[in-house]
Amino acid sequence: MQTHHGPHNPVTPGVDLRSDTVTRPTAAMREAMMASPLGDDVLGDDPTVQRLQEAFAALVGKEAALFVPSGTMANQIAIRSQTEPGDEIICHEDSHIIHYEAGGPAAISGCMVRGLRGPRGTFTDSDLLAAIRPDNPHFAVARLAIIENTHNRGGGSVWDLASLNRVTDAARAKGLRCHLDGARLWNAHVATATPMRDLAAPFDTVCCCFSKGLGAPVGSIVAGDARTIHRAHRFRKLLGGAMRQAGLLAGAALYAMDHHVQRLAIDHKHARTFAQIATGGGSALRLHPDQALHGPETNIVYLDLPEAMPIDAAELAARLARDGVFVLATGLRRIRAVMHLDVTESQARHAASLIAQHARP
Ligand SMILES: *Cc1c(COP(=O)(O)O)cnc(C)c1O
Repeated sequence: MQTHHGPHNPVTPGVDLRSDTVTRPTAAMREAMMASPLGDDVLGDDPTVQRLQEAFAALVGKEAALFVPSGTMANQIAIRSQTEPGDEIICHEDSHIIHYEAGGPAAISGCMVRGLRGPRGTFTDSDLLAAIRPDNPHFAVARLAIIENTHNRGGGSVWDLASLNRVTDAARAKGLRCHLDGARLWNAHVATATPMRDLAAPFDTVCCCFSKGLGAPVGSIVAGDARTIHRAHRFRKLLGGAMRQAGLLAGAALYAMDHHVQRLAIDHKHARTFAQIATGGGSALRLHPDQALHGPETNIVYLDLPEAMPIDAAELAARLARDGVFVLATGLRRIRAVMHLDVTESQARHAASLIAQHARP
C-alpha cells in the first residue's frame, strides 16, 4: 500500500474503508476475552489457545493447528516448515507473500519465489506445470505451491474449487507441497457456501486470519499435519511469535469463529452496493479489470482512475480523507475500499456517493 491516509485519532468519526483490519472488538467479544481461562502458552498450558487450535484444526480437517500473532507470520512459518534454502516457491505474481510480507521468503527461508500470471489472482494447472523446472543440478527445486483464497490484489476473488483441485493435484504429482494463504478463507467459504474443510482439503497447510473480516484484535492460525505443525512450533519460537497468556487473544478468535463468520455475507452485499454507487451517477471511476465482469466477489472493491482524470489515487484518497472517508491508494491510479464489521449499509452508501462525487469529470 502506498499511502495510509487515516484518522489521527482512532475514534474520529468517519467511514474507514482502508482495510477489514481496522475493526475494534465488540463489547461481547471483549467480554468473551475477559472470561477466557488463561495459562502460559509457551509452556503449553493455555486452555483457550488449545481450544482454539483444536477447534480450527477440526474445522479445516487437519491434524493440528498453531495460533500465531499475524497472517504474515503464519505464511512465513508455513514456508519455513516446508522448504530448504534454495528451494523455489510457486505462486501468483500478485500474492500477498510477494507484495506485503517484507521479502519474508528470502529473508526467513532463503527461498526463491516464482510468480505466475492469470486473471483474478488465479492460475491454471498448465501454468504451474510449465513453471516447475526439471530435476537437474542447475535448477532450483520447486518445493511449495501457494494459493491465496480469497485473493486480495485479485479483487477479493474466490478460487473455483475445481480449478483449485486441478492445480493442487498437478503440484502434488510433481512432488510439491501445497499451502493455502487463506487469510480471508472465511469470505470464500461464505461467498460459495463451501465448507471450510473442502476449501482446505487439497492443501498440506492452511492459514486463516482472525483480525480481518472476523473482527478479532490480533491473531492468525496455521494448520496442517502433526509433523509440519511440530516444526512450525520451533519456527514460531525462532521468530519471536510464541506468546504467554495468549488465551486472551484466542478467546476473541473463538468468539469470532462462532459469531462473525456468517455475517460476512453482509459485507459482500455492501461491497456490491458500494461498487455500483461509486461507478455510477457520472463517476469516472471504473472497477478493477479483475472485478469488471462480475463485480466484487467478496468484501473488497478496487476502483481505477482513468488516465483522463486530473488527480491520481493518492490525491483522491487525501481529498476523501478530508471528508471523513478513508480508502487506500494501492497503485498510482487505483484505490481500494474494504467492507467490514464496523461499516453499516448507510455508511457504505454515503462513502460511495462521496467517491462518485469526487470523481465526476
Ligand atoms: C492480510 C493478509 C495476510 C497477513 O497479514 P497480517 O497483516 O500479517 O496479518 C496474508 N495473506 C493475505 C492474502 C492477506 O490479505
